[in-house]
Amino acid sequence: MSESNDPQLISLSDFSALNKAIKKRRLLSLALELTHRCNNNCVHCYINLSANDKKAKKNELSFEDIKDIVNQAFSMETLWVLLSGGEPLLRDDFCDIYIYLKEKGFLVSIFTNASLISKEHIEVFKKYPPRDIEVSVYGISEITHKRITRKNTFTDTMKGIERLINSPLSFVLKTAVMQSNHKEFLQISEFCKKATNRPFKFDPFLTLRLDRNLRKNSRIIKERLSVEEIIELEKLDKNRSTAIKKQCLSAGTDDLKEDEDIFRCRAGINSGCIDCYGNFKLCSSLVRKECIYDLKNGSLADAWNNFTPHIRMKKSADPLFKKHCGSCSLVHLCMWCPAHSDLETGELDKPAPYFCDTALKRYSYFNSDMP
Ligand code: SF4
Ligand code: SF4
Repeated sequence: MSESNDPQLISLSDFSALNKAIKKRRLLSLALELTHRCNNNCVHCYINLSANDKKAKKNELSFEDIKDIVNQAFSMETLWVLLSGGEPLLRDDFCDIYIYLKEKGFLVSIFTNASLISKEHIEVFKKYPPRDIEVSVYGISEITHKRITRKNTFTDTMKGIERLINSPLSFVLKTAVMQSNHKEFLQISEFCKKATNRPFKFDPFLTLRLDRNLRKNSRIIKERLSVEEIIELEKLDKNRSTAIKKQCLSAGTDDLKEDEDIFRCRAGINSGCIDCYGNFKLCSSLVRKECIYDLKNGSLADAWNNFTPHIRMKKSADPLFKKHCGSCSLVHLCMWCPAHSDLETGELDKPAPYFCDTALKRYSYFNSDMP
């Protein structure tokens, strides 16, 4: 979970106690994937199962299981919980889970597609305000929305967004950009900015499926924008292009020592993720078997204190790794990380041609565009 640059939110980094905790490697934020099921079936989705998948539903953590995990997180002084999915509002006990977290005193964020937001949800959120609600908007025309979601949820989605707009709640609208909504991007971004008066986020980098489904992955790959199309969008966004230019500057000055450490990201330093079956992961995308801890046979403290550092210490046995991603100064401009590498190549420590090409072209464009 990244810290917000939204002027409407007090920055957590303003709290000195928090800065101390960050330095100490504490589990400050936890993502809870309440279900992998969703009432949409988006062409680019890396995680979704059908809303009616009975087997998946049966295997999901119960409210009691979730309370137990949340209590463990509470005793470890976790501050922030993200409720995500799939679509978290699909769970009948969503409000019970949400209220339980709020009454415990957690900051709570919610990722939702908005189509299931009811008047009752709004009342609960008004009584127990979330830190943030983030809604994915895939199209502002019914035809684009349906091309992506492959469901008739457009009217309900707009109704859900309308309910948020007419409430005092803080929320963000964002989108994933892909071939199926690329032509509507400007209208989507205008709609989102106007509806919220908050920074609009877009993500043009589509992640492959966590279940490694080949047919669905080939559809995701077809939906990916070309690097040139991505750069065109990034150019238009002033905040984003300024941030990328800064990354280009540090890319030029990074210490380039060759390293066999696989983890260069912050997964498992102050954050972790628990899926709806009770598996602890360093981040949502890291699903390789040996990197997953089954909480049903252990504890969150053991997952965090013993298992996670052991995973983070993983070294690459591939000498080529040191010469590529292990010493690459473009890593901060790149989608590469061990989790994405595994989804893309089947290994935690391989460069992926798509990532390399994207990072190099973005660097070359934004670096040469510096004043
Ligand atoms: S709405 Fe979100 S979780 Fe649901 S299918 Fe689409 S991308 Fe996946
Ligand atoms: S995938 Fe390529 S650009 Fe990205 S970190 Fe690895 S070597 Fe660098």
